[in-house]
Amino acid sequence: MPSTPDARPAPLGAGPAVLAFDVGGTDTKSALVDRDGRVLGLRRTPTPTGGDDPAGDVVDALAALAREHRAEHPDVRPVAVGVSVPGLVDEAAGVGIFASNLGWREAPIRDLAARALGLPVAFGHDVRAAGDAEHRLGAARGYGDVVVLAVGTGIAGALVLGGHPYAGGGYAGELGHALSDPDGEPCACGARGCLETIASAGAIARRYTAASGIAVPGAREVLAAAQAGDAAARRVWDDAVRALAEALARLVATVAPEAVVIGGGLAQAGPALFEPLAARLDALLSFHRRPALLQARLGDDAGLLGTALAARDVAPVAAGAAPASAAAAAARSAGATATEPAP
Ligand SMILES: [Zn+2]
Repeated sequence: MPSTPDARPAPLGAGPAVLAFDVGGTDTKSALVDRDGRVLGLRRTPTPTGGDDPAGDVVDALAALAREHRAEHPDVRPVAVGVSVPGLVDEAAGVGIFASNLGWREAPIRDLAARALGLPVAFGHDVRAAGDAEHRLGAARGYGDVVVLAVGTGIAGALVLGGHPYAGGGYAGELGHALSDPDGEPCACGARGCLETIASAGAIARRYTAASGIAVPGAREVLAAAQAGDAAARRVWDDAVRALAEALARLVATVAPEAVVIGGGLAQAGPALFEPLAARLDALLSFHRRPALLQARLGDDAGLLGTALAARDVAPVAAGAAPASAAAAAARSAGATATEPAP
């Protein structure tokens, strides 16, 4: 992994210093964010899996990472921690309900992490964290009603409605597991014909191999083959674009987002994805509010950045604040109206 942390820009702007952990099924990304919003020491380490106490093992790993980050940057004093995980997440309760590749059920991760790290913890869902980052810092900045989709191995989504993340108790945003083809392939989730069995990058590669007998590492190669005139590749690619457009059309009729942001591996196809997708979606709509179709801007770091934003949201008001904020906090506690400095 490239590690040129101190040369990175300050994407988050001024605010409290925090630690952020984006826990994935395979790797955990972690970093310190300083009061200028610089991302320091960004690293990717294997997520411990397979033990008898999966949540405890992950929290122990986070505590060890926290010690490393603090030792590397003793001048930066984090006042809060963000932890994002995949699977079903009850953010309000601070509980990881279920994560198939991490193995926990009903794990009180927020409390475990707060005890292990000795700081307030913002606990959330990885894709919602990424969506929040695209909304607050990235492609969907300035929009109030937003759908953010990550189209990669699978398809995951995050909703922002009226400017606020909408989690549905941890169940919202699962567009990848909305029905796309009743006669379609079985999905890993147990249902049949889910969108991600047709339109995920993983599905595109798998379906092309099934149709042609040619093994490919990913959807990129299928797109290249389609562009070179391979009929099977063209069919598989067009199926994916059509399924995505239909799913978005239903979503547009239901939620009426102002913007749809698409990230993940498939979005790297750029205009080869966005142009036909926009045309197909447009053809399916009539009176509906037409959303701006946008490519995600924050890339792979969106989840970590959103996790850091969430940590800043739970940071104690006066802790680590600049003198101006401390004055504002003092004014507030004295009953006066104060305005926080812009983030
Ligand atoms: Zn499914």
